[in-house]
Amino acid sequence: MPHTPYPTSYYAASANPVPPRPELKGETETDVCIIGAGYTGLSTALFLLENGFKVTVLEAAKVGFGASGRNGGQIVNSYSRDIDVIERTVGPKQAQLLGHMAFEGGRIIRERIAKYNIQCDLKDGGVFAALSAKQMGHLEAQKKLWERFGHTQLELMDAKRIREVVATDSYIGGMLDMSGGHVHPLNLALGEAAAVESLGGVIHEQSPATRIDRGANPVVHTPQGRVKAKFVVVAGNAYLGNLMPELAAKSMPCGTQVITTEPLGEELAHSLLPQDYCVEDCNYLLDYYRLSGDKRLIFGGGVIYGARDPADIEAIIRPKMLKAFPQLKNVKIDFAWTGNFLLTLSRLPQVGRIGDNIYYSQGCSGHGVTYTHLAGKVLAEALRGQAERFDAFADLPHYPFPGGRLFRVPFTAMGAWYYNLRDKLGV
Ligand SMILES: Cc1cc2nc3c(=O)[nH]c(=O)nc-3n(C[C@H](O)[C@H](O)[C@H](O)COP(=O)(O)OP(=O)(O)OC[C@H]3O[C@@H](n4cnc5c(N)ncnc54)[C@H](O)[C@@H]3O)c2cc1C
Repeated sequence: MPHTPYPTSYYAASANPVPPRPELKGETETDVCIIGAGYTGLSTALFLLENGFKVTVLEAAKVGFGASGRNGGQIVNSYSRDIDVIERTVGPKQAQLLGHMAFEGGRIIRERIAKYNIQCDLKDGGVFAALSAKQMGHLEAQKKLWERFGHTQLELMDAKRIREVVATDSYIGGMLDMSGGHVHPLNLALGEAAAVESLGGVIHEQSPATRIDRGANPVVHTPQGRVKAKFVVVAGNAYLGNLMPELAAKSMPCGTQVITTEPLGEELAHSLLPQDYCVEDCNYLLDYYRLSGDKRLIFGGGVIYGARDPADIEAIIRPKMLKAFPQLKNVKIDFAWTGNFLLTLSRLPQVGRIGDNIYYSQGCSGHGVTYTHLAGKVLAEALRGQAERFDAFADLPHYPFPGGRLFRVPFTAMGAWYYNLRDKLGV
């Protein structure tokens, strides 16, 4: 199998050193075989190892090759659809349970970083920025909603206050979440992989799962080997392909693009984001940005339904960056890349079990840095026989995208165009 390197990105260029992780060759036996070494797979592996399970992780490319090593690095609380929508969808009892979990992922990340001494430039503080009165109204309601679930580190900001934390005139206000924040996402994944190995877990890179023999004793096949396991956890998300055809109809890979400037220097960087918070706006197709550890601006935005790779990423994202920060017009872009996340129609995660022993979690629809860490804990609990929290996610209803395989991309793009237009008109 050809060696698959990391795609070019600022994160790959500034990754902490890692050991070589050999491809799986021959047969091996384990308690749990995890497919995919992104946050979902690694978080699950860590919780299982901490509870005495034997774990083997199969990664098609390299640790953090997928969204976990390419994302905006923003620790954003809750889910891609908030708890009020969940309440309307599944009723108050299940919403209570999911609401109380909505802030746990961020805590898990911080615990992991501290416990395993992971060097990943953690910074506290995330801003949701409002571009219209309607969005500001949503943030006010969101604050009340989150406070009902015990989350109190929130501050509403008016136009003057948000200007103190983001040097742009784009926003009419916002909300600061001090339990949000940001990290170097690939270094977080690499640190978690090292933690997995420190506890005796095994990770094979360049080892795609090509087939699963289902049944009482599942076997996962790779091009040169196979893993016999008691349980399988499928954590391939937008990069899974057709390994589990029953999951594919209710989710759709989407691309989003990120650019990174040259180092700005302390003074310019500080003038843009004086407290070093990360920012995402409240649009349906949102822009998100933050400073890196070495004071570059990392700016992402836009969505390509169906995950086609755009020819010129800088041409798409740079104008968005300059709209927020015209003062960067002479700054060079050093890196531009694309990554895929997995969208579901409800924008809530797709979680469940196939038969008795194949578990999956995927499809957190754009906001997944915190959820995937929580997912690892919830999946590990289910494998230990405590499935109440797992069931709360597994019971969320999911539907196929309208239009089937042929038309789901244009249909969804049309829907997004409509919401984008509403954002632009502020209605
Ligand atoms: C550009 C971008 C920016 C984003 N920004 C943010 C952000 O700022 N904040 C936020 O909360 N969320 C963000 N997200 C979403 C977030 O990154 C994801 O939700 C999260 O990382 C998903 O983690 P995962 O482990 O489920 O999937 P991934 O990280 O995609 O990992 C899946 C892994 O499985 C492997 N794999 C797939 N199939 C197989 C197979 N058959 N055998 C073996 N291995 C396999 C892949 O190679 C991959 O490494 C962003 C996503 C992207 C793409």
